[in-house]
Amino acid sequence: MNSEMPAELRKKLESQGYHILGQRGAFKACQWQKKSLLSGDTCYKQRFYGIESHRCLQMTPVVDKCSQNCEFCWRVTPDDVKVTWDQTSVANEDVMDPVSLLDSTLMANLRSLGGYNPQSGARVLEHKYREAREPKHVAISLSGEPTLYPFLNGLIDEIDRRNMTSFLVTNGFQPDIIAEMSPPTQLYVTLAAPNEEIQKRLCRPGIKGAWDSLVKTQDVLQSLSGRTVNRLTMVQGRNMEGIRGYADLISRGEPDFIEVKGYMFLGSSRERLSAQNAPSHQEICAFSEKLSALTGYYVQDEQIESRVILLSKSKQVKKLS
Ligand code: SF4
Repeated sequence: MNSEMPAELRKKLESQGYHILGQRGAFKACQWQKKSLLSGDTCYKQRFYGIESHRCLQMTPVVDKCSQNCEFCWRVTPDDVKVTWDQTSVANEDVMDPVSLLDSTLMANLRSLGGYNPQSGARVLEHKYREAREPKHVAISLSGEPTLYPFLNGLIDEIDRRNMTSFLVTNGFQPDIIAEMSPPTQLYVTLAAPNEEIQKRLCRPGIKGAWDSLVKTQDVLQSLSGRTVNRLTMVQGRNMEGIRGYADLISRGEPDFIEVKGYMFLGSSRERLSAQNAPSHQEICAFSEKLSALTGYYVQDEQIESRVILLSKSKQVKKLS
């Protein structure tokens, strides 16, 4: 199958504000970076972990590649643009090398900051504008599955070499790669189902043995040197039952943190779900209290606007800056 990204997909992504980097890398300025520059409001990761939203690069090395097709995902999927493409295989020649990818991401950030220049009248503090031009954090989470990127170690090492922190979000379907991977500052493994049946229905894996792979990844988590997080994406009416299933998965991995986050009715997911599938913050609080009781993790913090609760294994949460 042709490894080119379909023109329909590239057109749709660019219309949504994505900067396509090389064949399939992508950067998109995060709404929280903009909010932080304009009003000082920041994302929950700044609140929970101390990263700075206005100095964050939201990017992905493989915008069109993922080994699952979650109903709640804001990513553009084949159904959304009525074309099919190979979702899971990525050859070395199909992607940018890590140094060029990071350089291009930094350039895309500078381009997207053009409208925030106080010299041109933007109501942004001069020092914050200058800081935003020198990012300190990379969120490898925008879209797609980063463990499909053949140079992932190189990317994480290059981010580290430039004294930046990195958060990487994975669906956990590649335990062998995760076990050998250069540790990002913080590794997120998404848990979106308490059992295989719901995983099949809600996440629609494009590979065989997805559940077993996820369980194996949870077993690998304990042995990793970097900080680890299980993020539970809660979709009302889809995966908020069977809480013991989540507790069992979490107990296998013993991550440093758990984030219980409500699904947000955003992006392309609006074609697949309804606003009723977005749980309220109260429902997220209630679920988190039960999970705390089952796992022994401490409920630490919350950000109501993002409908997210932080739980931690230890009583203290060490900030990153
Ligand atoms: S950490 Fe995530 S939410 Fe926060 S600014 Fe970066 S991309 Fe946005």
